[in-house]
This record gives sequence, C-alpha cells and structure tokens, in this order.
Amino acid sequence: MQPTDAIAAPRCGALSKKLFAVAKEFIPGGVNSPVRAFRNVGGEPFFVRRAAGCRIEDIDGKTYIDYIGSWGPNILGHAPVAITNIIHEVAKSGISFGIPNPFEVEMARTICGWVPSVEKVRMCNSGTEATMSAIRLARGFTRRDLIVKFDGCYHGHSDSLLVAAGSGALTHGEPDSAGVPRAFAEKTLVLPYNDPAALEHLFATRGEQIAAIIVESYPANAGLVFPQPGYLDLLVSITRNYGALLIFDEVMTGFRLGMAGVQGIENLTPDLSCFGKVIGGGLPVGAFGGRADVMDLLAPLGPVYQAGTLSGNPLAMAAGLAQLKELAGTAYLQTRPAAGADTPPNGYTRLDQLGAHFESGLRALLTEKGVPHRLNRVGSMFCLFFADRDIINVSDVMKQDLEFFKKFFWGCLDKGIYLAPSPYETGFISLAHSEADLDDTLTVFGEVLTKI
Ligand SMILES: *Cc1c(COP(=O)(O)O)cnc(C)c1O
Repeated sequence: MQPTDAIAAPRCGALSKKLFAVAKEFIPGGVNSPVRAFRNVGGEPFFVRRAAGCRIEDIDGKTYIDYIGSWGPNILGHAPVAITNIIHEVAKSGISFGIPNPFEVEMARTICGWVPSVEKVRMCNSGTEATMSAIRLARGFTRRDLIVKFDGCYHGHSDSLLVAAGSGALTHGEPDSAGVPRAFAEKTLVLPYNDPAALEHLFATRGEQIAAIIVESYPANAGLVFPQPGYLDLLVSITRNYGALLIFDEVMTGFRLGMAGVQGIENLTPDLSCFGKVIGGGLPVGAFGGRADVMDLLAPLGPVYQAGTLSGNPLAMAAGLAQLKELAGTAYLQTRPAAGADTPPNGYTRLDQLGAHFESGLRALLTEKGVPHRLNRVGSMFCLFFADRDIINVSDVMKQDLEFFKKFFWGCLDKGIYLAPSPYETGFISLAHSEADLDDTLTVFGEVLTKI
C-alpha cells in the first residue's frame, strides 16, 4: 500500500483543545496517567462528557464506539444500570467506614469461590498496590530478596516493578524510571518472555535466592502475547523446584477471561494472584490472594505489613459484586461450578461469541485489503499488529509498523471508532457491544485502510 496524505492530521474538537490547554497548566502533561496524553500517536486527547453502553461522547458532542472501556474495568459497557443503581443505593448508607462491612466478606467469598488457587484474599485499591503487596508477601514468606519479571510485562508502577532488562542476559535489572534507586532495581531480574532456556539458566545459577516470579498471565500491556505451549507449566514447575513462589498478575485478565481468569483456562495453580480492573465495576480496586499459608503471613496475623484506608470500601465492593453477578449469573456467586460441570451460557460465553465474530470479520477484511498483520485475540481481548512476523515477545511487538498504526488510529477516531491511542495496548469488547456495532466498526476499518 502506498502511504498518502489522505488521512487528516491529528485533531480534536475545539472544546477539548481548549480544556487540554488549561489541564496542562495545572496537571503535569494535562493527564493523570501518561497514556491518556496521546503521545504515542502524536496528538491531543479529547475530553469525555458522558458514556453509555459501548459509546462515549466527547465535550464537543462527537460520539465514538469505545474499545478501551476505561482500560479494562467496564466489561458490561459504560454506566450499566446494575452498577449505577447499586452505587446510588449503597452510598445512601455511607461511603467508607474503615471498619469491616458485609460486602467485603461477600467479595472475598466470591473471589475464593471462583478462583480455585485463591484460598484467602485481601482487597486493596489498585492493581499497583496488589502486585506491590504480593511481592512483599512473597519476599516475607521465602525470606529471599530477588524477584523475576519479564520484559514487556507491566505490573503497575511500584519501584520494584518499574525495572527494565539490563544489557547482559544474567545482569540485574535497570531502573525503568527516574527516581527508582539502582539498589532496588538490582533486586529485580528481568528475562525475555517465552524463552525457557533463559529461565532455566537463571534458576540454575541463582534459583536459591529468588523469592518469586511475577508474570502477566497473558501479557497484555505490550500488545497481547500468548505463552508458547508448556511455558506456563515451566513457570509452575521451576518455582516449585526452587522453593520460590509464582505470582500471576491477572489484574487485566482476571474476571474478564472467564470466572477463573487465565489460570482457569490453562488449568494452573499459581501460589499468589493479583486482581483489579473488572472486580471494581469501574471504581478503584485491587486484590491479591492465594495459598492460605502464605496469605496468613499478612498483618495482623503475621509480620508482613500491608494496609489501606479505603480498602474494601462498600461502594467498590458492591459495584464489583454487581458486575460479577451480571457476568456469571447470581447462582454462582460464592460457589464454584463442580469441576468439569457444564456452566450454562453466561456473560463470558457471550463475550467470547462477540470476540470471535469480530476476529473473523477483521481477518477477512485485512486479507481482502492485503494488509500485513497479526491478530491476537482471546475472549473479549484483542490486539491487531501491523507486522508480518509472529509476535511472541516485546521485541517482536516493537517491530510493528508504527506509522501505519498512527494513520489507522486517527482515521478511525475521525470516523467515530475509539481504539487505544497506542500500538502497545489491548482492545476490549464489552457486553454492551452488539454484532451490529462490531460490523459498523469493521466497515470503518475498511474505509480507513483503503485510504492509508
Ligand atoms: C492495569 C494493570 C496493573 C496496574 O493496575 P492499576 O490499577 O492501574 O494500578 C497491573 N498489572 C496489570 C497486568 C495491569 O493490566
């Protein structure tokens, strides 16, 4: 395909433009989380006035079909009645108490009921807190300091996890942000993902010092990448052999890809798991849980300190529970379907249908247009790469055609389709998307691709 200038330069509406100028005066970069600034696509963000179902409307009155869903939490779509009603109702009785409330217990029983590896769980306020606390707990349990993470996996922004691969295969990690002390980064070892030999070599040399491996169960923060056959089993066996813990970061995949997340799909039992996003129903939330003998080391029972003023607040718990009920049906709250039992069709079945519908239409379209691509999809998560090679780790992800992506992004936005403003993000379909919405999206994709 010949690049042309047929796609208009980045633009946003006049009111958004004005408000962003004000925002930049008072907020660093004008945003409260960096990806929202649209830097990866070279432009400026729009401001949202309201959203309902799969659509959002900006303050200039333009509407978009949304494939971000607040970066994952909004699996029912925007402002679902089941959640907005419960928030109104619960808030009338108080917003936060800092004393136990019944919703916390129902949430904990539900998570433990749905995810077999989780025997006990503690709620916190973000995915970042969940992974940070799980790592502290793993270090406290094993009395070891080193942790292993994988290049391209994102686990939030705590110091131990904002670490990038060093130059040599077995060197310690390098800070991936200013302000992270080198002394912290040295305790985090960073490996390439999907590379069993590198993992085995590291454990053979330093396995006795490693407290835990933390991994995104399906890495979805640098594109969407799947584990090669046997790779996750290797993570389980190698941690067991060396007395380290395996931490599954299911902040994105948990409660999105079925009742038990990726560990349910892959039938694996990590020692600890981290959650967030979907279990808060759109309110700030995180959770980490797993083996009872490990979890019982947390204060007040044990010596590993962890706390939170707003943790388990009734609004987030009630909103999250309402979301889970809509997804799986009330019958399954707090109980796990018997192993091997057929679960009746539920929200997850429907999300998978929608995902498959979108995938097959998109594959056909890209083939028809002759666009080199790789499309990774599982359930309601998808990532389209403009690349002509298989994508199995972050270095493959970095080799996609970024200029092509930018044109595609702006072309789609112009025509009312909102994709993540970065080629490194996963797209999300919600239960509020219909087949017709997906087909309309594909029509726009076709028009945009013709012009690139
Ligand atoms: C979003 C995300 C986090 C961080 O969660 P926050 O709530 O943004 O702190 C951690 N891990 C994964 C896999 C995520 O997708």
